[in-house]
Amino acid sequence: MSTAHFKSCTFAAGCAESALSYSEYCWSHLVDSERWLTVLVDALKDMPADPVALNLKKVEARGLDFSHLNLRGSSFSQAHLSDTLFVGSDLGSADMIGARFHGCDFVGGDMKNSNFTRAALNHCSFSYADLRGAYFVEAQFKEVDLMGAILYDAVLWNSDLSGAKHLKKRNFIDPDDPHKCALSETNTILAYESYRLLKHHLYDKGLYEDGSWAAYRELTMERRHFFKTRDARYFPSLMMDLVSGYTEKPNRVILSAFLIVLAFGVAYYLLNVPVPSADMARATRTGFLECFYFSFITFTTVGYGDLIPRPVAGFQLLACVEAFSGPFMAGLYVFTLTRRYAAS
Ligand SMILES: [Zn+2]
Repeated sequence: MSTAHFKSCTFAAGCAESALSYSEYCWSHLVDSERWLTVLVDALKDMPADPVALNLKKVEARGLDFSHLNLRGSSFSQAHLSDTLFVGSDLGSADMIGARFHGCDFVGGDMKNSNFTRAALNHCSFSYADLRGAYFVEAQFKEVDLMGAILYDAVLWNSDLSGAKHLKKRNFIDPDDPHKCALSETNTILAYESYRLLKHHLYDKGLYEDGSWAAYRELTMERRHFFKTRDARYFPSLMMDLVSGYTEKPNRVILSAFLIVLAFGVAYYLLNVPVPSADMARATRTGFLECFYFSFITFTTVGYGDLIPRPVAGFQLLACVEAFSGPFMAGLYVFTLTRRYAAS
């Protein structure tokens, strides 16, 4: 976050900080902070409707009112503000790094791409605030109301969500495209860890459907990381996603089982594998429906024995592979169902 647009502090002995708005000095070198606060409060009363980027770095104050102001790109970094109002304010790309907000009201505010890294948020309300693309790296949510807040594309890495209220999957939907529902996935490792945090939070709150979404995204991020780093674990991961949606999607298991039976049926037909056990010497091709039936009976390990693979090693091995996959898929299905419903 650049603060280059703020004037430098003019402290005689030299100072690397930027001067506060309406002052020549930074907070540390301010002589009369009470007086300066009066100047600030007066200025806030007739603040123009035009955008104003304020520098309030390290300021300690309470009860200020910044409601409905356009303060894009302002700096509140390391500020310590209590009971301050930001209702409907535009705080896009604001610098809130290391700030401490206690009992502050950000209801309906626009804080797109704001940086709340290591911010301590106590008893704040972000209801219906737009926090798209905001950074909450190592931020602490203590009794923070997030009802209806938009957190699409936000970064929650290493944040403490234990005190976040009304946090749901719904918070992460992109208002511009309701099909998109995600945290920031630019950095796959950070996204992976953030989804895991979110998953635990949602499960703790008893939101199993929402937690399942986070769990699925978590493992999808892990797979993307495997792909980037050319890790061989990418393939089993991809397999688990396709077959069961990382054990979060039971319907995928049913579909996969059907596709396995179908694929083996086609293979049996093309290779002319099954033959009636009563007529081992038969040279003619077994029909496709019979091959599909043979595939199904093999998959379910029923094995009536009316059709058997021709006594060729490769054909028998093929049937063995399918016979092994059947119980595996059945087990996987029971597992996904259990995860899905036993928890809720
Ligand atoms: Zn200074």
